[in-house]
Amino acid sequence: MGSDNAFDHLRDAVEGNRREAAVTLSAVVPAYNEAPNLEPFLIELDGVLRGCTGQHEIIVVNDGSTDDTTALMSRIAPALRVQYVELSRNFGKEAALTAGLDCARGDVVVVIDADFQDPPELIPRMLERWREGYDMVYGVRADRDRESWFKRAGTAVLYRLLALDAPVEIPSDARDFRLMDRSVVDALRMLPERTRFMKGLYAWVGFRAAKVFLSPPPRRRGKSKFSYRRLAVLAMSAITGFSNLPLRIWSAVGLLVSLAALAFGGWIVVETWLEGRDVPGWTTIVASIMFFAGVQLFSIGLIGEYLSRVFEEVKQRPIYLIRRRIDCSPLEQRRDTGRAAQSDGA
Ligand code: UDP
Ligand code: MG
Repeated sequence: MGSDNAFDHLRDAVEGNRREAAVTLSAVVPAYNEAPNLEPFLIELDGVLRGCTGQHEIIVVNDGSTDDTTALMSRIAPALRVQYVELSRNFGKEAALTAGLDCARGDVVVVIDADFQDPPELIPRMLERWREGYDMVYGVRADRDRESWFKRAGTAVLYRLLALDAPVEIPSDARDFRLMDRSVVDALRMLPERTRFMKGLYAWVGFRAAKVFLSPPPRRRGKSKFSYRRLAVLAMSAITGFSNLPLRIWSAVGLLVSLAALAFGGWIVVETWLEGRDVPGWTTIVASIMFFAGVQLFSIGLIGEYLSRVFEEVKQRPIYLIRRRIDCSPLEQRRDTGRAAQSDGA
């Protein structure tokens, strides 16, 4: 329709102007025992952001570090315009990112790791794509050569499984490293779940997304905070949060087994009727009882996984708690639209 078209043009023009003007930018940096990386990283990040746009802030979320991150941040926060948020314990990266997004005040928000694996010099390119009209620009690893075959195989299986049933496509090689428009951040902040698999949530909110490719360098100092156990927990959150396929598979298995048992029972009746011989078959009975007891326990365990996530949600505990804050951000507080940042313990 003509009037709709005119309206669309007008909206695009207004939107275009908004994106061409100087915008404020927030960079969210989750940090868990990253003291040796943090100072050089923040200096580099600040340098890149200065060249980018109007004003900016850096939000460092200390996710319960046990090293001297707190002392370091108290010292360097003012010079680097940092909003420093210290969580009351280690809540995990997904919660730390959630806290960072709740505190961010910019028109555009960048999420970036503290270990130099997400190169800050890509941010201007991401911002350019945002100006072209994309709402979310995310980093995609061009290769996984540096990862162990075990991790690569696990990732491949997880994303295949998700692809079978998730309501949205969750890109398998995407990193958390991304630049988001304020509208995306507000959308993410409306999602209340405790079981947070951020890569799934980014995909779930939709919007127009573009990729930038990168080859993550090795982390500069320290070692990865994600043990295989942590990765397994995250993978389980991803599956229970975004796929009901495992539950459905067991309904199908149950149905097939029942039908087979029914047919087998019918056959025995007919056989006894025709030939009149009794059925020995102890081994068959014992073996099948053990097998199906195993199947049942496995499927009950699986239901338990989903149930425990439901329990997490029902308890309605906050996703994170803030113990302390140092606010040296030059940006003004926004009028709140989503979840309020969890308040300080003090
Ligand atoms: N991180 C965090 N909380 C955690 C684990 C990690 O805030 O419980 C941060 C960490 O400090 C880093 C980012 O998340 O800035 C990515 O972590 P890491 O480099 O260990 O993950 P990897 O790159 O090995 O996947
Ligand atoms: Mg890393």
